[in-house]
Amino acid sequence: MKPVNVVVLGGGLVGCAAAYYLARRGAGVLLAEQGDLNREASGRNAGSLHFQLEYRLIRYGDELAAQFAQIIPLSLVALEDWRGLEAELRADLEVGMHGGLIVAESDADVALLERRQALQEKWGLASQLLSAAEVRRMAPYLAESVIAAGYFPHEGHANPRLVAPAFARRAEELGVTIQSQTRVTGLMRDGAQWVVTVVDRAGRTQDVIADAVLNAAGAWAGEIGALAHLHLPIFAVPLSMNVIERAAPLIPHLVQHASQRLTLKQVAAGNVLVGGGWPSRFSREGSAMSTQRRADPVVENVMANLTLAARLVPAIGGLHLLRSWTGITGITTDQMPLLGAVPEAPGFFVAAGGAAFTHGPTYARLVSELILEGRPSVSIDLYSPARFSHINSFMASV
Ligand SMILES: Cc1cc2nc3c(=O)[nH]c(=O)nc-3n(C[C@H](O)[C@H](O)[C@H](O)COP(=O)(O)OP(=O)(O)OC[C@H]3O[C@@H](n4cnc5c(N)ncnc54)[C@H](O)[C@@H]3O)c2cc1C
Repeated sequence: MKPVNVVVLGGGLVGCAAAYYLARRGAGVLLAEQGDLNREASGRNAGSLHFQLEYRLIRYGDELAAQFAQIIPLSLVALEDWRGLEAELRADLEVGMHGGLIVAESDADVALLERRQALQEKWGLASQLLSAAEVRRMAPYLAESVIAAGYFPHEGHANPRLVAPAFARRAEELGVTIQSQTRVTGLMRDGAQWVVTVVDRAGRTQDVIADAVLNAAGAWAGEIGALAHLHLPIFAVPLSMNVIERAAPLIPHLVQHASQRLTLKQVAAGNVLVGGGWPSRFSREGSAMSTQRRADPVVENVMANLTLAARLVPAIGGLHLLRSWTGITGITTDQMPLLGAVPEAPGFFVAAGGAAFTHGPTYARLVSELILEGRPSVSIDLYSPARFSHINSFMASV
């Protein structure tokens, strides 16, 4: 196999987008995906384009919320990236950015909205706090129990089944070699280069030589890190999602709750997607949990998720649930992405973690600039893997 500039590890949204942005800058790229493209988190998520601080970032008290709010500068870049994505990829991605509401049902919820609003303002995201009357005017489909809402006019959603494949198509047009059913099993340095061992769909083992590797393995990014004798503190978590039957257009917004797990939206086809980070359960392999198999839905969580959705939008209460499914995503110890170079392993880059449907195209674009030009057009220092150097400095290089 001829040497390439960059091997991209993982064929979710981040990997497919990075392959595209790298090739657009002239790099020779091979993308290795152990299964099929877009079959994991990137094709199984809720499709929300979150720019306000999600509930998971605000729920652990002021100090941590202030730390987690550092994601906002990246969100503002992602917002601009999403505006241009359909034109860039020459594809309909069902992007709709008609605004997002984070709703409050109690005084405690309103206090959370106010704290969120202050943090968002501090980092330059201009959201508004709407009164009950304003919410009623803007979103008459919401229940009377909603007494306020945080509103940001550019939130929305896109279709997760379309985005990574569109990047992959464009990447292939630019000459990227995409190998699905190809698992990365080894990573070794050889002087200034990396030797990436892959096992392809026929069971053949091959070594690929590359100037750089990009770990875009999502929830499995820690396992890829371990192949390079690195610790990347990212953990796999299993979540669930639900889709409700089609209805006439009713909900133009992305709806979230101030203090509970909920995202709710009506997609182009009229179906209502309900999620928000409710846990599912890893299936077991012996006594250990397995991240290699589909996680199992937890019926009580599905019910609680749907009950909350129907309480907030009474009109969907009579509609049938069509399907629930699960997906595995990666969360770092500090909820920030791992984005950039790993200082202890020259030529090893990572782009993983966080809300990487919203931020994935932006991770990919910026990390490609870093790999090929030495610096990205927007600083990503806040998310650098260097913040875990206190761990990796104990790890000898491979
Ligand atoms: C149910 C659910 C709902 C979500 N909702 C949202 C949302 O609304 N908005 C949002 O912004 N984010 C959401 N997320 C998070 C988002 O989906 C993920 O952050 C994002 O898709 C991660 O993309 P990725 O490309 O990094 O990872 P993935 O899409 O998981 O891709 C990683 C790929 O790496 C491959 N891989 C792993 N190990 C190897 C190996 N050894 N060799 C080769 N390939 C390997 C895997 O097979 C996989 O295909 C949600 C996640 C879930 C699970």
